[in-house]
Formats: sequence, C-alpha cells, structure tokens
Amino acid sequence: MSLIEASAVSKIYRSGDVEFYALRDISLTIDVREFVAFVGPSGSGKSTLLNLIGCLDHPSSGRLTVMGTDVAALDRKASAHFRGENLGFVFQEFNLVPVLSAYENVEYPLLMVRGWAPEKRHAQVMKLLDAVGMAAQAHKRPDQLSGGQKQRVAVARALVSEPKLVLADEPTANLDHETAHKVIALMKQMRDDYGTTFVFSTHDPKIMQAAERTLMLEDGRLVKEVQA
Ligand code: ADP
Ligand code: MG
Repeated sequence: MSLIEASAVSKIYRSGDVEFYALRDISLTIDVREFVAFVGPSGSGKSTLLNLIGCLDHPSSGRLTVMGTDVAALDRKASAHFRGENLGFVFQEFNLVPVLSAYENVEYPLLMVRGWAPEKRHAQVMKLLDAVGMAAQAHKRPDQLSGGQKQRVAVARALVSEPKLVLADEPTANLDHETAHKVIALMKQMRDDYGTTFVFSTHDPKIMQAAERTLMLEDGRLVKEVQA
C-alpha cells in the first residue's frame, strides 16, 4: 500500500459565480520513505496540494487517501487528531511561537497529543534538538535565532512526535543557499534514520535536485514527473 494515493483530485475555489481550479485531476502515489518534491512556479498549486494531503483542507472531487485513511471523510476534529498522530509540518515562515524558547517550541506537539511522562518528553525534545544541531541554543527564543536556526527548530518540531509523514511547504524559501542545502540534508538524514517520508515543495531549481523524485505542477495540473 502506498502512503499517499490521489486519484483525480481537484480543488475548486469559488468566489461568487466564478470557479477557479487550483488543482485539476491530480493522480499520484507516494510510498513510504520517499523523499519527494512538488515543484512549479508560484500559483501552480503546490501549497494547495500539500494542504489537502495534510488534512488542512478537503478536495472538491476525487479520492485522496493518506495511510489508507480517506482524508476527505474526516471532520474537523478527526482531521486534527489524524494530523497529531501521523503528520509533521514544516512551514515556509517557520511558524514558531515567538514567546516560547526553541525547547518549548519543539516540546509543544508532545504536550498536545501524547500522554508522555515528563522525563521521556524531555529526552525526546533534547534528542531532536541535538539531531538538528540546536541543543546548545535550546533556551533561546525565535527572535534570538537566525533564519537557518529557526528552520532547524521547525524541522525538530515537525519530527518530535515521530510522524510517519512530514510535509514541508517551501521549507528553504527564506534561507540562503548554503543553509537551504543544510536543511534539506538534515531532512534526508531524518528520513534515513527514522524512515520518515518527506514531501516538500519548492520553486528553487537547486533545491529540487536534492529530491529523489520531483512532481511538476503547472496551473494546477501534474505535468511531469522526474525520477532522480
Ligand atoms: P503555490 O503554492 O504553488 O504558489 P497555491 O496552491 O498557493 O500555489 O495556489 C494555487 C492557486 O490557487 C493560485 O492561483 C491561488 O491564487 C489560488 N488559491 C489558493 N488559495 C486560495 C483560496 N483560499 N481562495 C481562492 N484562491 C486560492
Ligand atoms: Mg505555496
């Protein structure tokens, strides 16, 4: 069974009488441990597709299963539960909580979904901060960190609950090239170490080369697939 299966998935945004196809007839499968990129120009539908896979939004038509679950059938509460149990997100703008330290940002998902004992939680948070090279900065707040450091914390936060699937929407967009490549290398290392599946989006040609498979979007359509 594939981890993600989309069959003729479309997403229509309506504004008054006007219908706009943000995604049109997307069919794809992504397997466990893949390291895949959605690429395409701005407005091609990358974020929309990641949001559907991440159960943040529902398809307008078609069938989408993630880990065998028909995600279109989940209501708001069930979606939140499914996300908490199975998914990690890395957002373009990091989305760290400004008043929390790096440590507290990474700890946050564990407080939300897992009934872990404090010692176990602490060990897990430190393991992830260490893995992304941020253990020494654990006490710092986001405004005391560089862009690359914030993105490392965001990756640690996405992985702390050991999700099977991590979705990353232009995770390197705010980073210089060297830092961007480090973040990608880190994600790949996490895939190798934890068996996590990574699906990320980018419009940066240098970054897309790091993916093992690229799925190209154009005007909401899947136009090309390249296997590295
Ligand atoms: P990308 O991430 O590739 O830049 P998006 O998935 O954000 O593209 O957007 C795809 C298209 O859908 C764009 O034309 C965008 O304007 C449109 N779109 C995205 N979200 C909405 C929304 N909530 N309402 C209306 N149109 C939207
Ligand atoms: Mg986008």
